[in-house]
Amino acid sequence: MKKQSTLILMVFLVLPVLVLAQPETPIEEWTGRTILLVGAHPDDDAGRHGTLAMLQENGNNVYIMLLTNGNVGTRDRTMTRQRLEKIRRHEQLNAMRAIGLPEENYINLGYTDGMVEFADREELVKRMVWWYRKIQPDVLISFEPGYRYVKWHKSDHRAAAYLAVDAARAAEWHLIFPEHVIQEGLEPVSIREYMYWGAEAPNVTVDISDYIEQKMESNMAYLSQFTSLSGDYPGNSDDRFATLDDLSDEERQRFIERIKNRVGTTEQFRYRMGAPDGAGSGPGFSNND
Ligand SMILES: [Zn+2]
Repeated sequence: MKKQSTLILMVFLVLPVLVLAQPETPIEEWTGRTILLVGAHPDDDAGRHGTLAMLQENGNNVYIMLLTNGNVGTRDRTMTRQRLEKIRRHEQLNAMRAIGLPEENYINLGYTDGMVEFADREELVKRMVWWYRKIQPDVLISFEPGYRYVKWHKSDHRAAAYLAVDAARAAEWHLIFPEHVIQEGLEPVSIREYMYWGAEAPNVTVDISDYIEQKMESNMAYLSQFTSLSGDYPGNSDDRFATLDDLSDEERQRFIERIKNRVGTTEQFRYRMGAPDGAGSGPGFSNND
C-alpha cells in the first residue's frame, strides 16, 4: 500500500514537469496562433527561420521584433551608420520574404547596435509592451534568459534575453504603462508559451526538413554579414545593395558552403509553458529552487 501511494505521489510530482516541458499540441501542428520572435539584431532570428517558415505556412501569424537596426557591425571604414541601417533592413526584409513573412510583420525599434544595455530601460520596455499589447502574441520566441543560473550572452543579446521576458511580464498588468489601456484602448496580454533558442537544455526539436530551401534562401539574404562584404561593401550609394554577383566565384562558393553548414534538418528550443514569472526556471522548477 505504501509503495502504491508513493507511486501515485511520484506520478503527481512528475506529471506537471512533463506537461510544462512539452507543448500540448506539437509545434508542427500549431495553427491560428500569433507568434512573436524578439531579437537584438537583424539576423538574430535567422537560425529559427525553418520553424518560422513552417509556422507561417501552417496558418499562424509570425512577427519579428528586433531592438536595434544593426547599424555598426562593419569593418568597412567608408560605411556610415545610416547606410548600414538601410542595408540591414533591406537584407532582413529579403530574408523574411523568403520564409513567407510580409514587411508589416517586421518591427524594428531602431536602437543603435551595441548600445541596448545603455538605453533607457523603462522607455525600451514600454515600447516593447506597447507592441506586445498590440499584437497579442500567444507564443514568445527569444534568446534563452537562463536556466536556473545566470547565462552570459554578448552585449545586446543579454539585454534582449531579459527584456523580451521583462516586457512579457509587464504587458500582463494593466496598471503598468496604464496609458496604453486607458488612452489607446489596448488590452493587457498574458503570454503563456515560450520558446528559447541558444538554450543549454533544449527540450523541443522541430523538424524543418521541408523548409531547408527556404531557410537557405533567407539566410543567404544577410550578405553584409559575410566577412568579405563586411570589410568592403560594394559601391557608396545608399541604394546600392550587394548581390551574390558582387562576390568572386570562390567567395560565393565559400558563402554558400557556410550557410549550408549552418542549416540542418532541425531547430532546437527550450519550450516552457506558464506565467513569465517562472521564465528563468526549468520546467517544473519553481523560482525558489
Ligand atoms: Zn545579434
